[in-house]
Amino acid sequence: MTEIPHHDIIRHLGHRRTVIGEAPGRVNLIGEHTDYSGGFVLPTVIPQTTAVAVAANADGASRAWSASVPHDQQQVRFVVGEEARTSTWVDYVQGATAVLRAAGHRVGGFDAVIRSEVPLGSGLSSSASLTVAVLRALRDLFQLHIDDVVLAGLARRVETDFIGVPVGVMDPIACALGAANHALFLDTRDLSWQLVRIPSTAEFAVINSGISHSHATGSYRQRRQECDAATRALGVHEIRDLSEYGQRRIEQLPEFLRKRARHIVSENARVLAAVEALRKRDMARFGVLMDESHASLRDDYEISLPQIDRMVEIARSQRGVLGARITGGGFGGSIVVLTLAGQAVRVATAVAQAARDELGLRPQVLVPPTK
Ligand code: ADP
Ligand code: MG
Repeated sequence: MTEIPHHDIIRHLGHRRTVIGEAPGRVNLIGEHTDYSGGFVLPTVIPQTTAVAVAANADGASRAWSASVPHDQQQVRFVVGEEARTSTWVDYVQGATAVLRAAGHRVGGFDAVIRSEVPLGSGLSSSASLTVAVLRALRDLFQLHIDDVVLAGLARRVETDFIGVPVGVMDPIACALGAANHALFLDTRDLSWQLVRIPSTAEFAVINSGISHSHATGSYRQRRQECDAATRALGVHEIRDLSEYGQRRIEQLPEFLRKRARHIVSENARVLAAVEALRKRDMARFGVLMDESHASLRDDYEISLPQIDRMVEIARSQRGVLGARITGGGFGGSIVVLTLAGQAVRVATAVAQAARDELGLRPQVLVPPTK
């Protein structure tokens, strides 16, 4: 649990009644860029969380503080009932009240203090971790009757409707419904989900490359548009609807659409195979699927970077490693590595060291957590 220092709460919220909402970040194990075309994904939660302390404020002028952003941006203001997009981080907070109000919930003014251990813009969904934590805090403060499934949907709307970033449904669902030691198998078409236990014979390591991305910038959006274009060209509702025969039509698409569609088809199949591997406790097979996923993201979906490819390669050359891949939206961010049990710390440390020495990066080992 992320601690919010007591003196921070006192400084910003005084002695008012305070409630805290919390939510973890997530790492996607396999099923990348499939969640905006009704496909399958398989994330899990990471130990790092975002905590949000809130207290009611009847002044009509709400405030929020976060220690995770540059000093001159740490304090922001907003007015509940007059939410307007600013394209700064306050949108993740006032977006929460905007979607709650739009859904008919009564929310008053409040002040918030935010602490997060989830690195921002590193493919570990600091944004959904923040929105889910804010919504949980407000649910408690204003005694709203919302379960975590509905709350995940509201969290998504904060990003899609209020902020205007076309994020998929995976992040808020993973942050709201994920559980430690389990993978969350989600069908993003009908939102059915199941927690599948991760066998204790294997462990995951997550290393942030230190190369930051922003979903608000063009590349993620562009991939979504290309995926839509491929879907239209194939004449289906979603690429997942292609029959085996229909999949042959992919080969007739112009080259870049062909590659994008091929990734979606192969990645969806890999998620199903990975879930089966988990159930059979066949982690060697899971690792192979992760390797294949990386190759597909690098060559067909083209969302990797040479430094990330190299980090994945370094990871694979370590003893005890079963598989490795880029994770998250891409163009930077983190890698996820599957190792035999008890090997993840050594592997992650070696990968981070090599990324520092050989690539001049400033990597950070996130999983297993170092403190
Ligand atoms: P990701 O979700 O992969 O970390 P995004 O680009 O979706 O990356 O979201 C990052 C943005 O979310 C940040 O630029 C910031 O605006 C906001 N954000 C996330 N966590 C925090 C936080 N603890 N404090 C302030 N803003 C945050
Ligand atoms: Mg995000």
